[in-house]
Amino acid sequence: MEHLSTAAETHQEIREEVRKLCARFPGEYWRKLDQERGYPTEFVRALTEAGYLGALIPEEYGGAGLPLSAAGAILETIHAEGCNAAACHAQMYIMGTILRHGSEEQKNTYLPKIATGELRLQAFGVTEPTSGTDTTALRTFAKKEGDKYIVNGQKVWTSRSEHSDLMLLLARTTPRDQAAKRTEGLSTFIVDMRTVLGKGLTIRPIRTMMNHNSCELFFDNMEVPAENLVGVEGRGFRYILDGMNAERLLISSECIGDAKWFIKKAVNYANERKVFGRPIGQNQGIQFPIAKSYAQMRAAELLVKAGYDRFEAGETPGEEANMAKMMSAEASWAAGEACIQTHGGFGFAEEYDIERKYREARLYQVAPISTNLILSYVAEHVLGMPRSY
Ligand SMILES: Cc1cc2nc3c(=O)[nH]c(=O)nc-3n(C[C@H](O)[C@H](O)[C@H](O)COP(=O)(O)OP(=O)(O)OC[C@H]3O[C@@H](n4cnc5c(N)ncnc54)[C@H](O)[C@@H]3O)c2cc1C
Repeated sequence: MEHLSTAAETHQEIREEVRKLCARFPGEYWRKLDQERGYPTEFVRALTEAGYLGALIPEEYGGAGLPLSAAGAILETIHAEGCNAAACHAQMYIMGTILRHGSEEQKNTYLPKIATGELRLQAFGVTEPTSGTDTTALRTFAKKEGDKYIVNGQKVWTSRSEHSDLMLLLARTTPRDQAAKRTEGLSTFIVDMRTVLGKGLTIRPIRTMMNHNSCELFFDNMEVPAENLVGVEGRGFRYILDGMNAERLLISSECIGDAKWFIKKAVNYANERKVFGRPIGQNQGIQFPIAKSYAQMRAAELLVKAGYDRFEAGETPGEEANMAKMMSAEASWAAGEACIQTHGGFGFAEEYDIERKYREARLYQVAPISTNLILSYVAEHVLGMPRSY
């Protein structure tokens, strides 16, 4: 079983090229980084040089101008080949906020440099320790003073902050009790972290169960030029929401890739490993969990495709993007379970890479949005039941 590809796959040429790139970054590379909690600098550089991280930036700003499904094909392949795009996937889609809502000057200043990798836009500062999923309750405040904003507050789980030049920051600019609606009075800023690090910005890494380079950020009178406000003050929450369907679909593609990696690995081992004088894959107790996770993955893959189709038709695929994210994260987890069980004791040995992938795959039932909140979305917005929170 060379590659586990399916009928729902698109962009075959891109997949083939990404596969070749990933072959230069085998399990040993990721294992070493995992032990050191290191950043995959060489891998990210290779993706940048090949133009993949600028896939969604329009050609007029120096990117490849590819459709969202092509970016999905890139991310899925990275994961299906045993690599991990979490170190850089945000570079692909955070720029969408600048592209859709930024001024022409901001687009000309930032997008071409993001496309070449000269500027890294990897950090996305939304989540805060006290507000959690209730984003509009966030407390970080940006107060306008002359030609700048003074920012005070705190973020948590701002991934890749130590490996990014820019951060897209969501902060309050009107206190929640003075805003017309709780979704108003929030604004989005482009923060050049190089200019404020140690001068109002402190970054503290958080050690997690997998290698994810996530951080806590502290803002103490951090100055941001007023020209770095994206779009209109107070409309930032809407701008962030605009990008969420794309983000969810792309993360779904990563989960599909993880599921394919686990399934391929499990099938190969089930066919090769002989116990009691016959392949373990001859036992239904081994076959069925793998077959079931394959069915889950295929169903999720069709939902992801439906999401990309609607997105690329200019529609808003809220239903598909949310359900695809939930179903694909569950499929990758089911495939991970089947894979580790199929491998018996060896599933726990680091050199098989399964335990690492297993730890990495678990995240997507929680971030960037947890399963309960997706179910709430479906219950309320798709099925018309009362809002539960
Ligand atoms: C490794 C990692 C990387 C991340 N990277 C980023 C990043 O780059 N940028 C960023 O801004 N954020 C990032 N996040 C944050 C992530 O988006 C949040 O962790 C996630 O949205 C859940 O928020 P929370 O952790 O505050 O959980 P909480 O909101 O505290 O929720 C805790 C639990 O309660 C449940 N819950 C809460 N409210 C309800 C409700 N009304 N109904 C039912 N259940 C409910 C949730 O589903 C969850 O299971 C990252 C998180 C992790 C772990």
